[in-house]
Amino acid sequence: MTDVILVINCGSSSIKAAAYAVEERPAPVWKGNITGIGSAPVYRALSGTAAGERMALATDMTTHRSLIHWMLERLGQEMPSLRVVAAGHRVVHGGRHFDAPALIDDTVLETIQGLSDLAPGHQPHNLSGIHAIAEAWPEIPQVACFDTAFHRTQPRVAQLFALPRHFADEGVLRYGFHGLSYEYIASVLPRHAGSQANGRFIVAHLGNGASLCAMQEGRSVATTMGFTALDGLMMGKRCGDLDPGVIMHLLRDRGMSVDEVYHLIRRESGLLGVSGISNDMRDLLESDDPRAQEAIELFVHRIVSQLGALVAQLGGLDGLVFTAGIGERSAPIRERIAARLAWLGVRLDPAANAEGASCISTTDSALPVFVIPTDEEGVIAAHTRTLACATPRAQRREREALACS
Ligand code: AMP
Repeated sequence: MTDVILVINCGSSSIKAAAYAVEERPAPVWKGNITGIGSAPVYRALSGTAAGERMALATDMTTHRSLIHWMLERLGQEMPSLRVVAAGHRVVHGGRHFDAPALIDDTVLETIQGLSDLAPGHQPHNLSGIHAIAEAWPEIPQVACFDTAFHRTQPRVAQLFALPRHFADEGVLRYGFHGLSYEYIASVLPRHAGSQANGRFIVAHLGNGASLCAMQEGRSVATTMGFTALDGLMMGKRCGDLDPGVIMHLLRDRGMSVDEVYHLIRRESGLLGVSGISNDMRDLLESDDPRAQEAIELFVHRIVSQLGALVAQLGGLDGLVFTAGIGERSAPIRERIAARLAWLGVRLDPAANAEGASCISTTDSALPVFVIPTDEEGVIAAHTRTLACATPRAQRREREALACS
């Protein structure tokens, strides 16, 4: 039997899961996901003995909890030699309470539950994952890894809204998200950038959800997402930055309900809303419909504008990183963004960009531009190993390895 850490990452309509050997750090020994939850759920085995298999699931399996139970059974069938000894979860919101991962006990669970209102589209699903594992293996330790934690190093002014100050005291703050992705990038940046990794970097996490993070010495100093993951850049279906007056207009003058407005800005806006075609960048890049082209233009425009604001906050820029679905795989989008950053001295090498090389800038570029695939699950596995599996000596080694990786 191989002892493994199971990592669960529950999104609003998907579940990503992966198993990592306790004794080794690198690639998972099994990986699977379920997408299309709520409409037409599909399971895919991504690695392990059944790698490549795809299976449509009964549409009456609608809850994350029931689907995780199904997935755990499936894991047992595909990989009978694995024994799950600990579980790690992505938890979207840690509020002001968590600036690091936490071993889950009743108090931690209660605190996570209490933050559900801040991330209603995600936090309840993250909790479902924790409950499902507790039902399957009540005895194993579980660890919560928070998407907000990486940003807790930001200066107070970067976290404040210009609202009456009691709101900040009550937790109405700019928290920032995608923290596990940024933490991973910060941990591997020295491999790519050497000692320059300690400088002023902007990481562009451009996936279905999208945000930018300004880092100095590998720590977050500012980010584009705020109180919720709706803020900042234009995304697949989310509008990003929006004049609050628009919300008031929709509610007051157009008679839309709160739920309708919430749905509009979360599910019907962004690339999908502006193009009227798709939230998937691949569809828009292939389309010659002018609406698709305008949606791409706005996507790039918003990135370039907000990146400029972060450069100002950093007082200059020493390097740029692209990551997540669009950032890792779309050469044309990287090219369009880089072209608008010529004022910073950014120069892309077209061949390196086309093949998605790890460094895509020219040697005479004023700053290096990297493409680094993110690994949120790997970060969760590493934290779970440290908090739930390791002896004190091994914990120290793990921390040292993370610090130098
Ligand atoms: P993520 O949320 O990081 O999994 O990113 C998913 C998104 O990445 C998809 O919705 C697409 O918009 C985008 N994407 C994935 N592959 C490509 C590609 N080859 N070119 C452009 N966009 C892509």
